[in-house]
Amino acid sequence: MGTSKCSHLGAYLSIKINKLTEKRKRKRCPKNNGHSTLYKYCPDCGSEIETYEIEEKYYPSLYDILYNLKLDEPFCDVFRKGDAVIAIGNNSEKNKETEYNLDESDNDIHQIVNFDRPEQMVKNFKTNYKEEIDALNGHYAVSSVEVCFGYLIYFM
Ligand SMILES: [Zn+2]
Repeated sequence: MGTSKCSHLGAYLSIKINKLTEKRKRKRCPKNNGHSTLYKYCPDCGSEIETYEIEEKYYPSLYDILYNLKLDEPFCDVFRKGDAVIAIGNNSEKNKETEYNLDESDNDIHQIVNFDRPEQMVKNFKTNYKEEIDALNGHYAVSSVEVCFGYLIYFM
């Protein structure tokens, strides 16, 4: 989490991620169970340290999934809401006509933003990022990808 407040008005992605299971190796002394150590023998009782496996459930990050799909970060993960990752487009060319440009500089605080074409912006986003959205939809760690329209406030 950064310290700079950002906002986005336009099309965004809500990506539902599945929890994955990963096997991890742990070490313990067979006598005082659960005591993990880097040593070959337990420093407390001298027993040989054994290796065992545990299954850990975790949510993969959007960047792990994009990397896995060999996509060059077309989307930027802005925050997580429950089991969904909220992400915005990361390509200024493809973002054209999918979002409103909000000028938040102190010099220009008088603006009217008319929400005049949300459906068109969602449509444009789906078209411009079709390949990337299809790839995400086909990934085993992704349960759904939804293109939504809204106003996001987040920290970067
Ligand atoms: Zn021990």
